[in-house]
Amino acid sequence: PNTIHVPELALVALVGASSAGKSTFAARHFRPSEVLSSDTFRALVSDDENSLEATADAFESLFFVAGKRLARGRLTVVDATSVRPDDRRRLVDLARRHDVLPVAVVLDLPRNVLEERHAARPDRAFDPAVIGRQIAELRRTLRGLPKEGFRHVWVLRSPQEVEAARVERVP
Ligand code: ATP
Ligand code: MG
Repeated sequence: PNTIHVPELALVALVGASSAGKSTFAARHFRPSEVLSSDTFRALVSDDENSLEATADAFESLFFVAGKRLARGRLTVVDATSVRPDDRRRLVDLARRHDVLPVAVVLDLPRNVLEERHAARPDRAFDPAVIGRQIAELRRTLRGLPKEGFRHVWVLRSPQEVEAARVERVP
């Protein structure tokens, strides 16, 4: 899909393993204030964007802000891996509570691409096996996204598809 249609009243979940390019995609296609990144919230609550120990507080804060935005009718993009159905379910529930459409943009790129990017990143020190597990979890559950409640599911499978993608906002 070259053109990704996003309703003005939507909660957009970027879905993909670490180094899939979620934050890069978000920065390219959305305003900074529209994007709520789990890493940003980890940093806000703990001063460390890689702190796994801060995950619960980070997401509680992220959901609070997302809820305020959606109540105001502002398009909101959640930049977190969201490879697990349980994590996505919370996003769908939030969208439903605010009567906005849950939309998923999935970055499902080849594992070797992600591992190469990961190795080149100074900001991600963890074992690359984590990425393999995230990809496996995503692929195991990917077909269930419509059933989870996502009204539109856009899947990008290569750097070329990501490069060619445009985001169009529709009423
Ligand atoms: P994380 O879940 O760890 O935050 P992420 O999905 O947000 O990862 P990014 O930070 O966007 O991933 O990208 C990871 C690395 O890959 C970065 O170094 C980025 O510059 C590079 N990258 C992202 N998108 C592309 C692209 N389309 N082409 C080339 N490199 C890219
Ligand atoms: Mg990121």
